[in-house]
Amino acid sequence: MKNATFRIVPLATEVAEAARARARERAPDHAILTVNQPEGFPCRHCLRWAQPGERVILFPHASIPAGRPYAESGPIFVHETACDRYDRTEEYPADFRKHRVLRAYNATSDMIDAVLLGETEPEPVIARLLDNPETKFIQVRSADRGCYTFGIERA
Ligand SMILES: [Zn+2]
Repeated sequence: MKNATFRIVPLATEVAEAARARARERAPDHAILTVNQPEGFPCRHCLRWAQPGERVILFPHASIPAGRPYAESGPIFVHETACDRYDRTEEYPADFRKHRVLRAYNATSDMIDAVLLGETEPEPVIARLLDNPETKFIQVRSADRGCYTFGIERA
């Protein structure tokens, strides 16, 4: 479903590449794991579930940079080897339509709203969050563990 109001923001390729380099250096905060279930390891770069047998890097990512009250760093996965950055940025990624929470942030990165995606489709929730002129960006996270999945900006 295409739209004209929002843009999906996957993890920057530079961040994924830096994580791969750190993993090759065996940095202790960059673990390499072999995926063992079909919907447990979301790659933040291609925005797909990494599939059983594929290898991913688990590392900490500052989804909200330091220096503000809502500053936050948490664990995310990317494929261990190069993958294509998600590029259908006008479409909500099909793999993550359920079991997510959408958090809205203002221009100073303070969280101002949050909506749990239950059986609700994500597009109307995004539209409602963006109806608030204070909303500067949205973060999509896993509903149970709270891990950052991807960002959404106004188109
Ligand atoms: Zn990937």
